[in-house]
Amino acid sequence: MYSPLGRLRRPEFTGDRRCWPCTVVNGILIGLLVGGVALVTPLGATLLAVVGCLGIWLRGYLVPYTPRFAPYLVKPLPWDPFHATPGSDSLAAAEDADGAAVMEALAEADVVRLTPESLELDNSFYEAWQAEMERLAAVGNEKLADTTVSVSPATAAVDVHRSGEQTYIVLSDGSTSIAGETWLRRPVAVVETAAAHTLAEWGVDSAVRPFAAHALGLFLDTCPECGGDVTERPASGCCGPPERGPSGELLQARMCESCHVRYHVFE
Ligand SMILES: [Zn+2]
Repeated sequence: MYSPLGRLRRPEFTGDRRCWPCTVVNGILIGLLVGGVALVTPLGATLLAVVGCLGIWLRGYLVPYTPRFAPYLVKPLPWDPFHATPGSDSLAAAEDADGAAVMEALAEADVVRLTPESLELDNSFYEAWQAEMERLAAVGNEKLADTTVSVSPATAAVDVHRSGEQTYIVLSDGSTSIAGETWLRRPVAVVETAAAHTLAEWGVDSAVRPFAAHALGLFLDTCPECGGDVTERPASGCCGPPERGPSGELLQARMCESCHVRYHVFE
């Protein structure tokens, strides 16, 4: 069915992809503008308010370049609604890994099957990993932090940090530098620690496990924390700088559609 409103809609910025900080910043800007115009022409202000609200509803945001400037506007706030996750959000820094060697180790241990056309995860491995995820999702934060530290090679200290609704397991290399810290969202800690445990049962070398645990996020299709679908979408959110790979291409990631936790970034 033809719909003139449908043509105006930008699905990449609306529906479940709507960026709430951008929407709120736009609402406030339109509100200020409407207030100013109302001093001169009340009818004009009413029209502007209707067009403004319709525009934000259909297009996600109306003021051009909102995703670029909105992060600066909210900078003085005591929290950052745009980038809630500091640090690497994974047990292993992806740039340290040799992806091909990791996949070879996984194939040797029968965790994955590599063919020239496809990459499949072994069914019994997936079931064992799933069971371990369910077990870890049920334990408390402190217990999860201790378990996570036991599979993370370069960690000297661990802490649990809460920020709004998010809980982070903060791993530290013992230095005071922020670069030596890894902030894992709780669901990521559950997925990667469970993967590391299951990889150990399958005989994968302990040095490879953290990288392999991160790589396995590729096969996750259900979020262990909220039960949402994990699907592929752009790695960056709507606001802030887009995340690009070495040759400038936009990075894709596997993320939970409901809680927006990111489980794997395609490098
Ligand atoms: Zn989720």
